[in-house]
Amino acid sequence: MNVFLLLGSNMGNREAMLREACALLAAQAGTVTGQSGYYESEPWGFEAATWFVNQAVQVETALGPAQLLHAIQRIERQLGRVRPTSPGAYASRPIDIDILFYGHDVIHTQELVVPHPLLPRRRFALLPLCELAPGFVHPLLRATVASLLLRCNDRGAVRPFGERETENSVLRTV
Ligand code: AMP
Repeated sequence: MNVFLLLGSNMGNREAMLREACALLAAQAGTVTGQSGYYESEPWGFEAATWFVNQAVQVETALGPAQLLHAIQRIERQLGRVRPTSPGAYASRPIDIDILFYGHDVIHTQELVVPHPLLPRRRFALLPLCELAPGFVHPLLRATVASLLLRCNDRGAVRPFGERETENSVLRTV
């Protein structure tokens, strides 16, 4: 299955954390078939001194959705993530990995909601994703990633970051 993930880090060496997460995904989740550039984004939903570095990653996986979530959570633990005590609380984290799309499947279980429900509201997710898959159609909203980005009114700052700076023209055309 072709899946899209969003990686984010706002602690420690953020780029090294994303590189390590990609290597662990390749070892434990499937074949990494695409990586966006890095984007630096303002913390969303809470105050933090350090901005996040985000990257969208495309993976071809043989894992089912729940298995993929568990693999991702294992990788988060391997990279030193300690979960916040209250569920849903936002906190600084060395690595956060979200499943944005699992093919075009629509999944609603207690532990997993896919497509990621906050994707349309998060510019820091849409912008890197748009680099990899502008024409991918959201299975519930029936809109492409590019059109979701154009419609998104999230005012949080997102800017290209570091050596993996995007080569695509997403930022120039939006
Ligand atoms: P977070 O603390 O933001 O990483 O949220 C992790 C929690 O969200 C986990 O307990 C997951 O079971 C749940 N979750 C629900 N949908 C998703 C998704 N699409 N991707 C990743 N985690 C999800």
